[in-house]
Amino acid sequence: MPQADIGLVGLGVMGENLALNIADNGYRIAVNNRTPDKIEAFIANAGPLADRVSGDADIATFVSMLKAPRSVIIMVKAGDPVDAVIAQLKPHLEKGDVIIDAGNANYHDTVRRFAELDGTGIGFLGIGVSGGEEGARHGPSIMVGGSEDEWHNAEEVLKAISAKFNGEPCCAYLGTGGAGHFVKTIHNGIEYADMQMIAEVYGVMRDGLDMSPAQCAEVFREWNKGPLDSYLIEITSHVLDAVDSKSGRPLVEIIVDQAGQKGTGRWSAIEALNLGVSATTIEGAVAARSISAMKPERIAGEKLYGAAPKGKARVDLKTLENALLAGKIAAYAQGFAVMAKASEENGWDLPLDEIAKIWRAGCIIRSRFLDTISQAFAKGDAANLLTQPDFVTMMKESNGSLREVVAACAMAELPTPCLSSALAYFDAYRQAQGTTNITQGQRDFFGAHGFKRTDEDGDFHHDWPSLIGKAG
Ligand code: NAP
Repeated sequence: MPQADIGLVGLGVMGENLALNIADNGYRIAVNNRTPDKIEAFIANAGPLADRVSGDADIATFVSMLKAPRSVIIMVKAGDPVDAVIAQLKPHLEKGDVIIDAGNANYHDTVRRFAELDGTGIGFLGIGVSGGEEGARHGPSIMVGGSEDEWHNAEEVLKAISAKFNGEPCCAYLGTGGAGHFVKTIHNGIEYADMQMIAEVYGVMRDGLDMSPAQCAEVFREWNKGPLDSYLIEITSHVLDAVDSKSGRPLVEIIVDQAGQKGTGRWSAIEALNLGVSATTIEGAVAARSISAMKPERIAGEKLYGAAPKGKARVDLKTLENALLAGKIAAYAQGFAVMAKASEENGWDLPLDEIAKIWRAGCIIRSRFLDTISQAFAKGDAANLLTQPDFVTMMKESNGSLREVVAACAMAELPTPCLSSALAYFDAYRQAQGTTNITQGQRDFFGAHGFKRTDEDGDFHHDWPSLIGKAG
């Protein structure tokens, strides 16, 4: 067989499907995997693509199967396995070859890997790939970080295998170093918030309005025809519709309410905190998964305080739909604000409109909404999505519903960590006179941290005890 155009290490769910996608697009691909059986199985099951796939468990033989200059995609478990694979590949690669890490790397690791390969002549790209198994096979959204030269070398194949929105590839170069993996992290943070807010409105329907899974499914199906039209709303209706083959009951009622997390949501919240950008809705979603994992404590808590009453949420479904839209706007505003700040700090010049564009198809948060976001960012350099005219209009129309739902849930004893934090973020964002004047007073009182005055420039400090009781 002629030499392969590209190599791929890691035949997990994502790697296997990405390799088939590459072959499907006419490229010859060679594969390698730690467990050799998977290589044989992959080649044996390649069907009509068999003449374009090859592979070997021996890393030197695998590298020798690639056309020079070589491009090798690594799609293994994030963290130490990526470093292990790079260490295996390095002795067999030459100047001009490129390693492409396509897993969910922490962007700090990506920055370190760039530094470690610097001076070797071996190039590196850190790319975020979103879309799960289906996306990897038929077209994911691809967020690229690294040097522009290396991007141009890989551009043709990455664009070919990516999802398309109105014929445009959902794949773009976003900036140097860890830019691609950073954007993928924030994508996942937004995904956490999107998913949690959907879970919260499902909770309102199930507990606050006493609706069955089938009734909830019907509502999500309807919502998918309006402004909330998105992959996550669509699959929510399918999840609610599914019937367990063992018990005959709705499958959603059999699934344990404990959510897993692999780290990207938490990393988003950590990055937001480090950058000093408020991303409370993403933080709320991470916290919701953490508290979901504490099932025994929640059971004990319900025994101590009693269960929330059923059917007590005083909201209608239209209000709920608008509330979800308002919450979604706040969550995306936060995610994009985190990216804008990171771009400034790292000198990435992240194209926010382009990011929204490549999320319109292929990825998990794909939606009609992202088209509106990309158009809004293309119009100008707004500091925050909440200041973009289209979103000002949407938020003016929908924030009242968010307020109604959060208030109704508070009275019905239903938790809404994301929706309520979205509302608090919005109310804080549009409050010209906040309340941290008292915080600054306290900080100066106990720690001589100083404060600024509204009527004079400069930094001030007071001997507070001498001022007490002198008001009026
Ligand atoms: P995964 O379970 O994260 O990784 C499986 C692959 O990693 C297998 O090929 C496995 O080899 C290899 N591996 C694990 N430890 C290794 C080590 N120490 N040395 C060498 N290889 C090692 O599978 P995945 O879900 O396909 O994910 C791959 C990457 O894509 C991850 O970074 C993941 O976060 C990211 N991602 C996943 C999704 C998704 O929906 N699953 C979506 C986007 C991105 P063996 O076969 O020998 O075990």
